[in-house]
Amino acid sequence: MQGDRFELDGLPTRVVFGAGRRADVPAEVTRLDGRRVLLVTGRSQAAVVAELRGALGDRCAGVLDGAVEHVPVALAEQARRAADDLAADVLVAVGGGSAIGLAKAVALTSGRPLLVVPTTYAGSEMTAIWGTTDGGRKTTGRDDRVRPRVVVYDPELTLDLPAATSAASGMNAAAHCVEALWLPATNALVDAVAEEGLRQLGEALPALARDRHDRGARGTALRGAWLGGTALALAGTGLHHKICHELGGLGLPHAPVHAAVLPAVAALLADAAPAAVDRVARALGGGDGPAALRRLARQAGAPTSLAALGLRESEVDEVAERVAAAGPAAPRPVSAVDVRRVLLDALAGDEAVPA
Ligand code: NAD
Repeated sequence: MQGDRFELDGLPTRVVFGAGRRADVPAEVTRLDGRRVLLVTGRSQAAVVAELRGALGDRCAGVLDGAVEHVPVALAEQARRAADDLAADVLVAVGGGSAIGLAKAVALTSGRPLLVVPTTYAGSEMTAIWGTTDGGRKTTGRDDRVRPRVVVYDPELTLDLPAATSAASGMNAAAHCVEALWLPATNALVDAVAEEGLRQLGEALPALARDRHDRGARGTALRGAWLGGTALALAGTGLHHKICHELGGLGLPHAPVHAAVLPAVAALLADAAPAAVDRVARALGGGDGPAALRRLARQAGAPTSLAALGLRESEVDEVAERVAAAGPAAPRPVSAVDVRRVLLDALAGDEAVPA
């Protein structure tokens, strides 16, 4: 029975939410006592970075704009040196999970406070989880030093998120909600947060597939992403995230992999977690939970096939063995045969299931 025993740490991250709220960043830096800010970002956020740089004035000590997916160790070292050389006292990350991940790598070894302005739905801004890669192997961990102190959510910054990135990232947020519902250590608070997050994403993602500049839907999607990140922070990760993590190590792209794997994992675990899949179905308008997730991915325009993302059938067995050997959390014991079934299902994607 889920939820009979659980432990819950509060969420100390301050959240500032609303259209135009990026204007609050200088005041939030002041609350953190920041005098020398290092802005950490990817290359597609040049406009907002220029705006924040202007608003911070001489409190902006420098900009690091080279964030890439999965935080290569060499880049983390470079960012740590830059923060030291500039004598930065506050880190401000602007961007998706890649920019946030790079800033977290600096916070991890220095304890500098982190303020995040997210521009995707990845959810990293709400968690104490960090990750780096070295030679194709990804290492992750949890440390309170990387948990952002402040998150400023401004839906206006997501208006130009390309349709494909938006859809895949939205399904990444949906995956945080869904996995939180079936993890053995879930509790009533996590259930409520995760179901509501999924409901908001279920409403927003199809609307954004029709019009990615829909302001109302952008706000709803970002609220769903906040709730998804919160569910992830509260409940942690299990089988679904472990499979995606291993596929990320092979070089497959993070958010699209989540989109393709989620319905297949839900189908595997449906019998072992009936209450969770009922909540999934209720959040997404009824029917069968795994089918509802597949429908959402399709309506959002997200990838449904791992083959299309670059996974080869010859790689399936090794990934399945590694995932099963790690013993990831799930509502029932999971074997390599189970994981293989998930991977083969997701390899084919929608081709395996009639529309
Ligand atoms: P990303 O940050 O790499 O962004 C995807 C692409 O979208 C990039 O090219 C980026 O430049 C672009 N982009 C971002 N915002 C944009 C905007 N508003 N307009 C136009 N383009 C924009 O990808 P992601 O999916 O956000 O993050 C993936 C990374 O985050 C992975 O490394 C993953 O492991 C990590 N992650 C970590 C956690 C955690 O809790 N630690 C949680 C989720 C994801």
